[in-house]
Amino acid sequence: MTPQDWFPQSWRTRPAAQAPPYEDEAAVQRATDTLASLPPLVTSWEIERLKSLLAEAQEGKRFVLQGGDCAETVADCRPEPIADKLKILLQMSLVLVHGLRRPVVRIGRFAGQYAKPRSQYIETRIVDGKEVTLPSYFGDLVNRVGFTAEERRPDPANLVAGFHHAALTLNFIRALVDGGFADLHHPHQWDLAFTREAALSAELRAEYERMSQNLSDGMHLMEALGEARIEELTRVEFFTSHEGLNLPYESALTREVPRRPGHYNLSTHLPWIGERTRALDGAHVEFFRGLRNPVGVKLGPKTTADDVRQLIETLNPEDEPGRLIFITRMGAKHVENELPRLLEAAGRHRVLWICDPMHGNTHSTASGIKTRSFDAILEDLERTQDVHSRAGTWLGGVHFELTGQDVTECVGGAAGLSEEGLEANYASPCDPRLNYQQSLELAFLLARRMRG
Ligand code: PEP
Ligand code: MN
Repeated sequence: MTPQDWFPQSWRTRPAAQAPPYEDEAAVQRATDTLASLPPLVTSWEIERLKSLLAEAQEGKRFVLQGGDCAETVADCRPEPIADKLKILLQMSLVLVHGLRRPVVRIGRFAGQYAKPRSQYIETRIVDGKEVTLPSYFGDLVNRVGFTAEERRPDPANLVAGFHHAALTLNFIRALVDGGFADLHHPHQWDLAFTREAALSAELRAEYERMSQNLSDGMHLMEALGEARIEELTRVEFFTSHEGLNLPYESALTREVPRRPGHYNLSTHLPWIGERTRALDGAHVEFFRGLRNPVGVKLGPKTTADDVRQLIETLNPEDEPGRLIFITRMGAKHVENELPRLLEAAGRHRVLWICDPMHGNTHSTASGIKTRSFDAILEDLERTQDVHSRAGTWLGGVHFELTGQDVTECVGGAAGLSEEGLEANYASPCDPRLNYQQSLELAFLLARRMRG
């Protein structure tokens, strides 16, 4: 079960891209020793359950909705942002269930999405007339976003603090879900606070109400008819995911469990490898190849057919169902040119294809604000779906950066957020997220289109 020559620390023999510039390796070791001694966040049976659902998504029987912040922060580990994220994911999934007539697998980019890769390792700003250069912000697992030497210093204590906050987040999510918050029979419980509802256009609100009423009527009818699958359709589960970037952290939480072969990364159900760390001879691919978890790999427009073949060979040599997910993030302009050869290269190997329409569509405004346009995001999704239908493959899911909060980070959508409006409430420390209304709107557009 464990591949040859692999052990949780075998990645250390390979070059690790994006390794944070820690100054005190002994302190990193102390932090990972602490992590290795603590109880895990998730269990192997939850991981196996997700793998079986992903196997069904691969076969076209389910659809995956994966979403959350670009960079989760410790400061946002508060009840309202967490509950709102859960609510928007629930509302979107309801729209998708209704539109696609398929159960939706909900996977949050949360409870551990604290490590960020950066194109630039250092950042220079003018502070009080002087040029100041500091390490970039690598996510709360490493340092802090504030632009002071103290905040930007990679502090190994953040590894343990990040783990604690992931545990608090997950505990709250589990309590809400177990307490019936996520029951599909009571979608009114997912309404956001009144102020947030006001942000929704009247049309979108009405469409959502109509759909949720339809779904509820349908559900009651099926129950009255004794339809067995209803249980399956209405049971709401949440899974967690994050980029498995910080290998000291990830490997400290990777363990053997009783009565199951192999090693599980018990920090999350679904870890993924980012576009910047997917080198075949690199530390990340080495680490991921030995995990029993399902694993994702982000694929950008420069991915070659050979990369795809070798990633499959290395990460899923046994062609295990539900094991390998390719999250394509081509950018609207590149999808049609770059995606077909990747689908062809994968051939008949078992792969779940998910579209991330966010990361290939980021640009900066003239005043230097990082944003994404709603139209480009939608276009990326639509073109990706077209390429899949032409190739005869199934687009099995979507991956969004979003929040239930009323932020102004992506331009466009029905509310017509303009570049000038971005500064009103731009809260992301990293990439721009879809706000509540934009997220729900996108779910409707996608559902409508996929229903054909
Ligand atoms: C991300 O998901 O936030 C990210 C950095 O994506 P990618 O690796 O695709 O660039
Ligand atoms: Mn991002």
